[in-house]
Amino acid sequence: MLSADVIVIGLGSMGGAAANALAQRGLSVLGLERFWPSHDRGSAHGGTRIIRQSYYEGVEYVPLLLRAYEGWRRLEEQSEQKIVTLTGGIYIGDPEEETFTGALRSARQWNLPHEVLSSAEITGRFPAMRPAESALGLFEANAGFVNPERTTAANIQVATQHGARLHFGEAVRSWTATRGGGVEVVTDHGTYGADRLVVAPGAWSAQLLGEVGAPVASERQVMYWFEPGYSPGRPAFEDYAVGRQPVFIERTNGNDQVYGFPIADGPGGGIKIGFFHEERPTDPDAIDREVLPFEVARMQSRALELFPHLTGRLIDAKTCLYPSSPDDHFMIGLHPEHSQVTVATGFGGHGFKFVPVVGEIAADLSTRGRTDLSIDLFALDRPALQD
Ligand SMILES: Cc1cc2nc3c(=O)[nH]c(=O)nc-3n(C[C@H](O)[C@H](O)[C@H](O)COP(=O)(O)OP(=O)(O)OC[C@H]3O[C@@H](n4cnc5c(N)ncnc54)[C@H](O)[C@@H]3O)c2cc1C
Repeated sequence: MLSADVIVIGLGSMGGAAANALAQRGLSVLGLERFWPSHDRGSAHGGTRIIRQSYYEGVEYVPLLLRAYEGWRRLEEQSEQKIVTLTGGIYIGDPEEETFTGALRSARQWNLPHEVLSSAEITGRFPAMRPAESALGLFEANAGFVNPERTTAANIQVATQHGARLHFGEAVRSWTATRGGGVEVVTDHGTYGADRLVVAPGAWSAQLLGEVGAPVASERQVMYWFEPGYSPGRPAFEDYAVGRQPVFIERTNGNDQVYGFPIADGPGGGIKIGFFHEERPTDPDAIDREVLPFEVARMQSRALELFPHLTGRLIDAKTCLYPSSPDDHFMIGLHPEHSQVTVATGFGGHGFKFVPVVGEIAADLSTRGRTDLSIDLFALDRPALQD
C-alpha cells in the first residue's frame, strides 16, 4: 500500500494550497483529485476572483487577508506566474448598508488605506458606473483580482517541485481513521495509508465529511460577461478596462448584491458580473450548466442599474458552485472525532482570496495540531452549524 505523511483529498483551491504548504515543510504528500488540474467542475474557474482587504464580512478576516497577500506574492515568485492584478476595488452601498459600512469598519479598525466617495465622485473617477444618488463607496487601491486557474496550477507546480505526488482523475470513495492514529483512503484505483489527512472537497463536502460536511450547501451560481455598448459620448473601452475600472461590489435600495470585474482581456472582452447570492442549492454531480435566457435578462437588467451603457451582447456565461456554510463563515479545524484529520471547507462565495493563508493554516493544523493564526470564527462546533 502506497503511503505518505499526509494525504490531501481535493486538489482545488484550498487542497492545492495545503498540498503546496505541506510539501514545502518537508512532508511527503499524496494528493488525490477526481478531476484534472484547474478544472471547471467545482468552485475555482472563470478567470478572475476578487481580492480585497476592507472586508465587510467581518473585521476578523483582515489579519488573514494581510497574511494572504504575502502568500500571493510568494506564490507568484515561486511559480514564476503572474497571478495577481491590482486594479483597485470599490464597495458601494446605501449609507447604512453593510457592503459599505462593513468595509469602512474593517478599513478603520485595521488602518487600511481607503477613500470614501459620494455617488457623483464615483462616476467622476470611474465613468462606466453610475450608482444611485444616495450611495456611498469605499475605494481601496489595494484590491484587485487573482486568476483562479493559474493559482491552482501554481500550487500544483510548486508542490510537485517539492516532491508531492499528485494524482488526478482519481476519485476518493471513502476514508477511515485507523486504530493506530493514522488514516486509510480508498479511491477508484486503490487504497492508501498516511499519518494525517486534509479533506478539502469544496461543494462535495457532504459526500466526504458525513455529518461534519452536512451543513455545507452546494449552490449553483452564474458568472456573466457582457460587452459594453460603445458609441460617441459614452464611456470608452478604457473606462471599462483594468487600470481605470476597479473590481466592484454593489448593493443599493434593497436590490440584490452584485460583484464584478473590469475588462481584463482587451477590446472585445466584457465586464464580468454576477449575483453574490442566488441560493440555489444543487447536487454538485447533477448541476444544470445551461444558463437560461431569463437568467441572462435578469442579470443584464440588474447590471444596467450600475453600468447604464452595458448594453452589448452577452459574451459568455458559466456556472460555478459555492460550497456555502449556513452563516457564510468558513469551516476550518481538526475533525471533532479524529484529530489526525484536518477539515477545510465552507468557503462559499468569498474564499478564494484566502487560498495561500488557508494552505498555511491547514499545514499548521496537520503538523502541529494548532495554528497561531486566528481561526475561532471558523470553528467546526459553532452553534450556527448545528441543526
Ligand atoms: C462564481 C463564483 C465566484 C466567486 N468569486 C469569488 C471572488 O471574487 N473572490 C473570492 O475570494 N472567492 C470567490 N469565490 C469563492 C471561491 O472561489 C471558493 O470559496 C473556493 O474556490 C472554494 O475552494 P475549495 O477548495 O473549497 O473548492 P474547489 O476549488 O472546488 O476544490 C475542491 C476540490 O475537491 C475535489 N473533490 C471533490 N470530491 C472529491 C473526491 N471524492 N475525490 C477527489 N477529489 C474530490 C473537487 O474536484 C475539487 O477540485 C467564487 C466562487 C464562485 C463559484
